[in-house]
Amino acid sequence: MTSLFTKIIARQIPADIVYEDDLAIAFKDIHPAAPFHVLVVPKREIVNIDAMSDDDAALFGHLIATCKKVANAAGHREYRITANVGAAVGQSVFHHHFHVMAGRPFSWPPG
Ligand code: AMP
Repeated sequence: MTSLFTKIIARQIPADIVYEDDLAIAFKDIHPAAPFHVLVVPKREIVNIDAMSDDDAALFGHLIATCKKVANAAGHREYRITANVGAAVGQSVFHHHFHVMAGRPFSWPPG
């Protein structure tokens, strides 16, 4: 089944896209949990980090580099990168994404 984020990549549903290249796309979260809240998503549908293979390591390095790029482009040098891996810890869209959030104080540990 085509994921919600694949539909965004295919421009079948709208999103506020802030970055895109051959491997990744980044767009604003529709329900932002911080003043800056962008999702960084691989174009290939990978359910979550638990479904990645060793061959995906370079792709995931690229995704982390993309998180830094989009945060820096918005003027942020301090930010939180989060990935929910599985429904029990809060994953609701089953196409891997890094949440990149900034612009307010963050507590630790997350709830
Ligand atoms: P998670 O719960 O970690 O799977 O995160 C999914 C995120 O996707 C949530 O923060 C949602 O607000 C966000 N989201 C859901 N639908 C959309 C959409 N159409 N465009 C942008 N973000 C979305």
